[in-house]
Amino acid sequence: MRDARQILRDTFGYDSFRPGQRELVDGLLRGQDVFGLMPTGAGKSICYQVPALALDGVALVVSPLISLMKDQVASLLQSGVKAAYLNSSLTPGQIRLALSRAAQGWYKIIYVAPERLVTESFLRVARSLPLSLVAVDEAHCVSQWGQDFRPSYLKIREFLEALPQRPPVGAFTATATDQVRRDIVSLLGLRSPVSVCTGFDRPNLCFEVKRPVSKFPALVSLLTAERGKSVIVYCLTRKTVEEVCARLRELGFDAVRYHAGLTDEERRQNQDDFIYDRATVMVATNAFGMGIDKSDVAMVVHYNMPKNMEAYYQEAGRAGRDGSPARCVLLYGAQDVVMNRRLIELSSGENEELDEEQRERVRRLDEERLKKMTSYCFSASCLRAYILRYFGESAPENCGSCSVCLEEGRKTDITREARAVLSCVRGSGRGYGKTTVAAVLLGGDEGRSNETVRRRGLDQLPQYGALAHLGRSAILDLIQRLVGKGLLAFSEGEYPVLGVTPEGDAFLESGETLLAVLPDREPARPRRPAPKREEGELTERPELFAQLRALRARLASRAGVPAYVVFTDRALREMAGRLPQSEDELLAVSGVGRAKLERYGEEFLPVLRAYAEEHGVSS
Ligand code: ADP
Ligand code: ZN
Repeated sequence: MRDARQILRDTFGYDSFRPGQRELVDGLLRGQDVFGLMPTGAGKSICYQVPALALDGVALVVSPLISLMKDQVASLLQSGVKAAYLNSSLTPGQIRLALSRAAQGWYKIIYVAPERLVTESFLRVARSLPLSLVAVDEAHCVSQWGQDFRPSYLKIREFLEALPQRPPVGAFTATATDQVRRDIVSLLGLRSPVSVCTGFDRPNLCFEVKRPVSKFPALVSLLTAERGKSVIVYCLTRKTVEEVCARLRELGFDAVRYHAGLTDEERRQNQDDFIYDRATVMVATNAFGMGIDKSDVAMVVHYNMPKNMEAYYQEAGRAGRDGSPARCVLLYGAQDVVMNRRLIELSSGENEELDEEQRERVRRLDEERLKKMTSYCFSASCLRAYILRYFGESAPENCGSCSVCLEEGRKTDITREARAVLSCVRGSGRGYGKTTVAAVLLGGDEGRSNETVRRRGLDQLPQYGALAHLGRSAILDLIQRLVGKGLLAFSEGEYPVLGVTPEGDAFLESGETLLAVLPDREPARPRRPAPKREEGELTERPELFAQLRALRARLASRAGVPAYVVFTDRALREMAGRLPQSEDELLAVSGVGRAKLERYGEEFLPVLRAYAEEHGVSS
């Protein structure tokens, strides 16, 4: 058996295992089942790829998406690993060829779509092969409680049972609640797996929530700040995707669109344009992204709030997979809640495998999750902490790199404003919706243009016009924050009205002070956090970095692979920082293995040497 550390270094070019990888690799090497729960970008693939190369025989990797397989196999081939994939994108002839090569022991790793596992032709080959292990990627797809339930994942167990000898099985996922975890273990039939749950924190991501008065200009300013870098913009509906993409193109952004309503052809084209850096902005519904592991996405913007935290963290997590600093920005609008409610209603009727009672339970669960998502958008404390606690982890109070923590210094005393809102709600007698409450606090002509205010004589309240100086949207925002703090609450039902909670009453009585940042009339751009420096990024040499990127783009298009398959941004940044001058020095850069050194060393070293010479620096 080859040494795992050696493989990690020689084939993948990494010096050491990341947290969790070692235990999972060792488990598989000992012949045990393993279960890895790690956030996107943590490096799950290494956990089965390294054992696959260390052990005799061939490893099968079950993976849900065609694009993912294609990418992974391209990366492996670049690293000198014999790999192939079997899915519906191949012609019957290609499949026959791959199967016959597999039967001859040609490959070390084969990616296979779940629905293919129990086909006659595949089973025959699989039964005859010495299998080193079976890895199940995106294992949460097996559970109907998870995101993206795929009934074909239920066949995996059947497949394993049909093998003459069961190899060790590894299951990997980035999203799993307790229920989903239990499902994965039982439905895949894992046998006392070695389980590793690494922290969900992604320190290189900066989380930001903005509640702009109007979203499109906010998006444009974000994209302008990140111009030239890869950005994904997620929208809730196809229609929004169309609109946003068209408007961006009018402004000269090289944006492409992606949603389930487009032809296969256009989707493939647009996805490739984005992955190969021909387009920098991808505007998409949540149909885009699963299995796309473009590692140099610099920012993920949510143009609409998604339906729950699971979806949000998964989508936002597509930023910064190579470990470089990246932004995750959510643009909240009250309309998003309404739209998500409607989508929940629609989708609850969809799953025909469920009976009425189950459906009702799923709907309630969805409602509950939507509320937690909304509270995230109004969180007055650290966003990262909110996320981590949601996923059951503990977290420090202040991360220093989310929009809330960065705003901390700008907090002011809003006790007076908060008291005005609460007294207004209390004084208005029977409950009113937030639009009416805001109209009262705003006062003046605008307030009087609200029909309920006029009819109910609410302009007689002492709070009438008390917060005119804030403007309408800031008042609405403040109301939401007070709901977020538990001082106000909405009633259930179709027309939720506001009421003061017992905590709100206590606040009014106690004379406590309340600190918060009031939104500006036009939201200001938050200061960017200073990017945390990775080890090895000793110097930043933007010109050299750009040169290396250009070289990479040429090599990638020559080889017909996405740029990051050649080297990640992070590897290039490290090269620019360290200025390796020899093959050995280049090999020391994280992400440079033997195969890539042989393939690309001669292309990159001259550029690095020329730079060093010209600038009189040595490494
Ligand atoms: P996941 O599947 O968990 O989302 P990937 O397997 O795609 O993550 O890995 C994310 C990135 O981290 C890839 O660019 C990968 O090459 C890199 N990576 C994985 N393991 C290591 C390691 N031990 N050292 C450095 N980089 C690593
Ligand atoms: Zn924070």
